[in-house]
Amino acid sequence: MQYDIIVVGGGHAGIEAALAGARLGKKTLLITMLVEQIGAASCNPAIGGLAKGHLVRELDALGGEMGLCTDATGIQFRILNGSKGAAVQGSRAQIDMDKYRAYMREVCHNTPNLDIYQDEVSELLVKNDEVFGVKTKLTEEFLAKKVILTTGTFMRGLVHIGENTYSAGRAWELPSSTLSIQLKELGLNVGRLKTGTPSRIDANSIDFSVMDLHGGDVNPAPFSFRTDKTKFKPTQYPCYVTYTNLGTHDIISQNFHRAPIYTGQIEGLGPRYCPSIEDKVKRFSERDRHQLFLEPQTSMCTEYYINGMSSSLPIEVQKKMIHSVRGLENARIVRYGYAIEYDYVDPTELKHTLETKKIKNLYHAGQINATTGYEEAAAQGLMASINASLSIDEKEPFILRRDEAYIGVLIDDLVTKGTHEPYRMFTSRAEYRLLLREENADLRLSQYGYELGLISKEQLDKVEEKRKILSDAVELMASTWITSKKETLELLDSIGEEKINDKVLLIDLIGRNTIDNQKFNTLVPTLANIDEYTKEQIIIEAKYYRYIQKQQKQIEKMKKMLKLRIPDEFSYKGLPGLSNEVVEKLEKHRPPTLYNASLISGITPAALDIIHLNLNMFL
Ligand code: FAD
Repeated sequence: MQYDIIVVGGGHAGIEAALAGARLGKKTLLITMLVEQIGAASCNPAIGGLAKGHLVRELDALGGEMGLCTDATGIQFRILNGSKGAAVQGSRAQIDMDKYRAYMREVCHNTPNLDIYQDEVSELLVKNDEVFGVKTKLTEEFLAKKVILTTGTFMRGLVHIGENTYSAGRAWELPSSTLSIQLKELGLNVGRLKTGTPSRIDANSIDFSVMDLHGGDVNPAPFSFRTDKTKFKPTQYPCYVTYTNLGTHDIISQNFHRAPIYTGQIEGLGPRYCPSIEDKVKRFSERDRHQLFLEPQTSMCTEYYINGMSSSLPIEVQKKMIHSVRGLENARIVRYGYAIEYDYVDPTELKHTLETKKIKNLYHAGQINATTGYEEAAAQGLMASINASLSIDEKEPFILRRDEAYIGVLIDDLVTKGTHEPYRMFTSRAEYRLLLREENADLRLSQYGYELGLISKEQLDKVEEKRKILSDAVELMASTWITSKKETLELLDSIGEEKINDKVLLIDLIGRNTIDNQKFNTLVPTLANIDEYTKEQIIIEAKYYRYIQKQQKQIEKMKKMLKLRIPDEFSYKGLPGLSNEVVEKLEKHRPPTLYNASLISGITPAALDIIHLNLNMFL
């Protein structure tokens, strides 16, 4: 059977890829191992978090499904870093894992142009370094113009629990055993990584009364810009906090010799920022406790996830360490924690479109590209599919720049720098994080979503309306002087704000003070009647006004810089600050402009700065 796009894998990357392809009018086939497991959350029952929330919002603004699904199935919504600046806040939601899967499966089944088929893709059909279809374990063959691999942790997956190992894609699910061997034979650089997950325990055996309650926000905010905020009233299920103790740490350290990550049993590197409990105890031996969050996996069942206690220690050790924790003394374990090793493909094998450089029409998205996390995977799935669709239509690729979106940062980091350990998104990875805030993702990206055909005109109109209100408000605040006249002093005094010397722009006054709704109404009476959510946005705009102007100037400078031509006779050899590896690559590729240089894998913004500086002296 002939398709436009075949997506291999129904995880978080695969869902977005399949839906986007179909919604863009491409005849799409999603092949996945178990249809019931479409949208399964392999690890924590949560979506979003610091920087990950940004990815979900961006995905949503471009027309992805993750935000809508989270709003429909979330059981606790919370803004992380709520007391800090908007640029580093992150939305996070506990999800009902069962409902999340059911929602995603239903959407996939009911999306026109999208077929679903359960099987294992065992082989890519490739001729002259070009993929033209796939072959499955049940010997079915499907032809397609584009193939997107989103195999997650499944390629030659190997589960470790103590000395026991078994082949699996994730606990008790079949692995994908042949695909990565073929990818290696095709010349792609295939490596090995590791990740892990904690035990799940039965709520009926947990003593929550001795733990701290960790609730959701009083006024929860939805993820999706398309969810009606006024009607968003999810039930906020509680999570609980408890701690490991020295007794727990003793049990773990006495069993380091049985921990697969230390015995040499596991070869792949694990996620640095999501370490197992044995790793935390070893690396931070001075700590006398580690925080654990108990999170419900669903609203209907009683399984709880022990966030912070990922482990691949033998089961008897896991049982002992869990029982040593306050409130978990009698915990009944439903599923034990484990680690999994799997094959990934070096993401520097990819172009910015996520198409592989060596095999035409083959795209990779998600954990196969060495990332970790549902959100990172989903973002790549969407981008791979958009680019596959555009390529079918012989249109220009869709590449988000680092100053436009975290998605741009994610993909640029992966394809230019690569990674040797599971890559997760952080706000610190984004140079322009003041511009790239969660709450303005719709303003930044909806136009693209609309032009691509993934966002409706109605949605775009709402965004444009918001943009107009915000820009009018900024204009007003940036042109209104507050002077030190008597009545102004009285005004400031009435809202408890600082005195001013001579005069100050209203936008700066709002930007540098703590302004709530009431104070805002006093200061900007003409905008007193707009809704609170928009007011909050205006205050954020005021707070970042000066910084944003500065960052925008930097971006303009960078854009100009990237256009700079590099003369043929320019030599990179001996430029201080450039590593031999970078020099070698630049000499080999001889990029005609700084922009072309920036597309070469391993050429960092710092390296570009050095070349730029030396070019200026050369020209
Ligand atoms: P997945 O969600 O893994 O989906 C892959 C899909 O592809 C599956 O549906 C599978 O059936 C299908 N598939 C694979 N091969 C084939 C084939 N050949 N033919 C047909 N279908 C195929 N992330 C974190 O952020 N933090 C963590 O602490 C964390 N811990 C984890 C622990 C474990 C044990 C596991 C398994 C994952 C963990 N993750 C964690 C990672 C997170 O689950 C992934 O990053 C995310 O699910 C990746 O999405 P994906 O779409 O790339 O792959």
